[in-house]
Amino acid sequence: MGPLTNPRKVVVLGSTGSIGLSTLSLFEESGAPVEILALTAGRNVERLIEQALRWRPQVAVIEDETKLQQLKDGLAGTGVRAAAGASAINEAAAMGADWVMSAIVGAAGLAPTLAAARTGAVIALANKESLVCAGPALLAIAKAAGGSVIPVDSEHSAIFQVLQPDCAHRVSRLILTASGGPFRTWDKAAMAAATPEQAIAHPNWSMGAKISVDSATMMNKGLEMIEASYLFGTPEDRVNVVIHPQSVIHSLVEYADGSTLAQLGAPDMRPPIACAFAWPDRLPWPAKRLDLAAYGQLTFESPDLDRFPSIEIAREALRLAGAAPAVMNAANEVAVAAFLDRRIGFLDIAASVAGTLERMNSLGTLSATDNDDAVENAMMIDASARRIAAEVVAQKHRGR
Ligand code: NDP
Repeated sequence: MGPLTNPRKVVVLGSTGSIGLSTLSLFEESGAPVEILALTAGRNVERLIEQALRWRPQVAVIEDETKLQQLKDGLAGTGVRAAAGASAINEAAAMGADWVMSAIVGAAGLAPTLAAARTGAVIALANKESLVCAGPALLAIAKAAGGSVIPVDSEHSAIFQVLQPDCAHRVSRLILTASGGPFRTWDKAAMAAATPEQAIAHPNWSMGAKISVDSATMMNKGLEMIEASYLFGTPEDRVNVVIHPQSVIHSLVEYADGSTLAQLGAPDMRPPIACAFAWPDRLPWPAKRLDLAAYGQLTFESPDLDRFPSIEIAREALRLAGAAPAVMNAANEVAVAAFLDRRIGFLDIAASVAGTLERMNSLGTLSATDNDDAVENAMMIDASARRIAAEVVAQKHRGR
């Protein structure tokens, strides 16, 4: 991308979600030079109309086709084109932007992220699930097209910022920090009875429902371990997790000489988005400054793998490799949806993911396929994992 003073052509995938809102808020507060080509949403047509009226993209896309007429009515006379459906989102992703924010939640973000990667754009990647489902393919496609993938997840942004490219082969450990989520201090009996409302109430971050539940189960950290392993080429046994309830240190890189570098910041997603937007430059904006004295103490503890088995499940998925990370991701999406729907209990989420992986492993369906088409491949794995996960979840539901 050119210097920061040149306007950047931007697409925001998932503009109506938590990361989408933070992205547009950052543009507003920084006055960053952007020309927005497209904004896309899932179902929240009212918010999409509001955003399109403010930012005047060339096109506003809603995934839910039943809301197309409402979108058209809301944008009548503005010159902003209205479109709907998954393929229209893929087209928006491939409009030729310089910078694409990938912030759709779940595996639904995979196809548009890959479509954007094929154009050679810089992908600001919040949608960790697409990396977990098809990481090696996504990174190879972006590289071949002359683009790049810059992580937005605060942990990976931290590692990205302190990783010295010339010394990548001298990294001995990546250390991901985790807040521990709302149930960090709860005992297992209380966790078994936890409600969706309690799981979503994250102590430090305001996020979408799915990632909030992932933080409560710590599957978020599991997904992030896989994300880190793919992004930075680090094997599973050199990716560690430490609980850090204040969420000030966003992650650390330990080098072979024993030196450990960390990146710090207040818990706000706009600084990592700003980093991905301006890299290798820095975006001047009135970010909240870190006041370490106000924190007084930063504390750390090891994760309790008995109460939070998701970390080991993700480690095992990385060891199994092949389709295992994508299966784990699909099973987790199905189980989180069932929990939010009150069909299964909180502890059933990790148990359902483990059960799906076990069942697919015993069926011999975890090895990678020969299919060269990364999207088709990942979609097939995703669909079969969802079918098995739905059965496992139904069993848990009946057993309650
Ligand atoms: P939200 O649930 O808040 O937002 C998700 C966005 O995706 C919304 O714009 C939603 O549209 C859209 N969407 C949902 N389903 C579909 C679909 N099938 N097709 C197209 N669009 C869809 O999630 P977050 O913003 O919290 O998270 C987004 C991604 O970023 C996730 O992968 C998450 O793991 C990751 N992330 C989030 C962080 C955070 O702080 N929130 C931190 C780090 C990573 P609508 O609302 O209109 O239905």
